[in-house]
Amino acid sequence: MRIELVSIGDELLIGQTVNTNASWMGAEFSLRGGNVVYTTVIQDTEKAIIDAVNYAFSRVDVIILTGGLGPTKDDITKYTLCKYFNTELEINTDVLEHVKSFFTARGRGMLEVNTQQAALPKAASILKNEVGTASGMWFERDGKVLISLPGVPYEMKHLMNRWVFDRLADQFSMTAIYHQTLQIQGLGESFLAERIKDIEDEIRASDISLAYLPSPGQLRLRITSEANRENEQKIEQFMAQIENRLPRYVYGRAKDRLNEVVGKLLLDKKATVGTIESCTGGALASEIVAVPGSSAYFEGSFVTYSYDLKSSLAGVKMEDIQKFGAVSEEVVIQMALGGQKTLGVDYCLAASGIAGPGGGTLEKPVGTVWIAIATPNKVIAQKFLFGEHRERNIRKTVLTALNLLRCELLEIR
Ligand code: ATP
Ligand code: MG
Repeated sequence: MRIELVSIGDELLIGQTVNTNASWMGAEFSLRGGNVVYTTVIQDTEKAIIDAVNYAFSRVDVIILTGGLGPTKDDITKYTLCKYFNTELEINTDVLEHVKSFFTARGRGMLEVNTQQAALPKAASILKNEVGTASGMWFERDGKVLISLPGVPYEMKHLMNRWVFDRLADQFSMTAIYHQTLQIQGLGESFLAERIKDIEDEIRASDISLAYLPSPGQLRLRITSEANRENEQKIEQFMAQIENRLPRYVYGRAKDRLNEVVGKLLLDKKATVGTIESCTGGALASEIVAVPGSSAYFEGSFVTYSYDLKSSLAGVKMEDIQKFGAVSEEVVIQMALGGQKTLGVDYCLAASGIAGPGGGTLEKPVGTVWIAIATPNKVIAQKFLFGEHRERNIRKTVLTALNLLRCELLEIR
């Protein structure tokens, strides 16, 4: 089944609203086995709608329109489709009752334009909207289907879940898709590809596909195939192979988040953590406390941006700051050890770096970051060279520090 999504609305074209309807439907269909081959975004005009529908009918089996079904004058989808399918509006008494009770339930009177919400094309079968007043419409022509849905995201989702997916599955063949994702930190795309070259060759030879999905400081590796038992088992084996090979980098699957993974490990060990932060300005602490229940293991943190506070709060020797610079192994180690003592924690993370865009030197360019971790029995520090971009450098530092902590907690060498 080939599908085209047509999103109607000037606000989408001028970038005022992000087309989340299309991304949601794309994700849903990819799991359910519908093949979305085009997404089109158009203006709220009769000509744009008719042109788009004509074009879409020439290349797909199913068209899903969203938007322009409201009661106001700018909403013209319903009237345009009436013309297109050569049909007329009639009041649907069921829908009229529903619209009336919708307003009564909210203690509001009804206007004439609201009654118009119950005027629907004779040629369409009506998809009742239980969470709003604009009904969905299902038209058919020469074995092809056009579905028109309201633009409001939760109404659209309601109609898709309640009516559309099942009915499409009855009428067309859908090949469901299975996918699994590995979450990776600390290894860029090309380095990962190099490390799993043999496994990747095997994956591709089994008609299973692999996608690298990078974002600052982390990478997702998605393995996808047609859903069946054999493929699911194969995918599980490939995932386990990659996890076993790269335990330093693979921290989870699917929706796992690094801060949650680390939080669970700290809970299991009944260990506590704190942070002493320079270039991250508290972002590391903020990432840790984003997890509900983090008070069980997070004690607190100091943001020591200045030399003075590095010295007075974290106990870094001023002479070492002057001698080695604030972004140095010596200083970041003292920050971690000082923090461990002052905050009274089992594990203390410390970060000091040049986030940019200014402040770089030949010897220490922008993106140079030292991260240290003090554990109950040792302290280690590592230097990283991230990039030019301040925000991404901060994000990368946060994720790298959390992953260092994860490796220490799991004693991964
Ligand atoms: P309404 O009855 O609210 O007028 P409608 O069917 O006429 O509904 P629109 O007027 O096109 O829909 O949009 C209603 C709301 O839904 C707007 O806030 C709009 O920004 C949002 N919206 C519309 N299309 C999309 C889309 N493709 N993705 C995300 N949001 C959307
Ligand atoms: Mg509208």
